[in-house]
Amino acid sequence: MREETKFYLGFDIGGTKIAVCLGRADGTIIASERIPNLERNPREVMNDMVSCGKKLLADASLPPQNISAIGIGAPGPLNIIEGKIESSPNMKNWNDIPIVDFISKEFSAKTYIENDANAGALAEWIFGAGKNCSNLIYLTMSTGIGGGIIAEGKLVRGNDLIGGEMGHIVLDPEGPACNCGLRGCYEAFCGGRAISQKIMADLSQQPEHPLIRFAQGDAGKIGYPVLIEGVKSKNGYALSLWDEICLRNAQAIGIFTNIFNPEFIILGTVALAAGNLLLDPVKKLLPRFAWPQMIKNLKIKTSPLGCKIGEYSALSIAVYYDNNSRAN
Ligand SMILES: [Zn+2]
Repeated sequence: MREETKFYLGFDIGGTKIAVCLGRADGTIIASERIPNLERNPREVMNDMVSCGKKLLADASLPPQNISAIGIGAPGPLNIIEGKIESSPNMKNWNDIPIVDFISKEFSAKTYIENDANAGALAEWIFGAGKNCSNLIYLTMSTGIGGGIIAEGKLVRGNDLIGGEMGHIVLDPEGPACNCGLRGCYEAFCGGRAISQKIMADLSQQPEHPLIRFAQGDAGKIGYPVLIEGVKSKNGYALSLWDEICLRNAQAIGIFTNIFNPEFIILGTVALAAGNLLLDPVKKLLPRFAWPQMIKNLKIKTSPLGCKIGEYSALSIAVYYDNNSRAN
């Protein structure tokens, strides 16, 4: 079948909502819709996913047999071998749910699941900043830090299909405790949750501190949003915390660079909000953690897919595995 006649369906599952989209292998998104997920019964949500997917197909006058493959992106942990979503802190109801089997039967189409961080790497590689390159690393820095690695033209998944947990490399064994049980992980230094907790612990007794005032009573903003404002307004506390964050990012990126010698490192979420406030110091600090030969041709960029990364991620899973048979 010619590439332009192939259609793919994607489901990007998040803790609060699910993006459903219909697209082509060239990255054209024909249609997309979002449905709520938060605290609902997974069976009910999966039925909604099927109805929504079928509606997108009907609106585009496409019969389901025209779908070449379906991709599902979801937060880990996943049982990729059995095609199941397992319980996670943001999706407590989704425990041992055989979603791949369910969706593939409903649409009679090959269906693949991948964790959302790996899917982000596929999206940047197939549709985003790293099109046609062979070596790319994607880092998503939101509540936690996740990542995916494309090495020599393949997604790195490891022996148990759980490789690429880039947020949990230990940068300092004496560092802050991480949610994963280790100490001093990259995520424990730079993840959104860790930064919120640090700012709360440092400043909660100082209601007049500029960073607390920036939040205007919205506790959800205490974290990167107020920190970035603090850095822009040259607040001393914010600048010193930012220095530490930039140093730890450079350390982690330096480690990945020396191991994989990537052409692109693409940063999402927090990096999109911070832009050059983050990129410039990280690039400056990188020679402390990686060889000059490794840095020479390396391009560090923010994600061009931005807020559409979920839709592109789900589609990229379908496109990638439609073209690369999977070992499981
Ligand atoms: Zn960890």
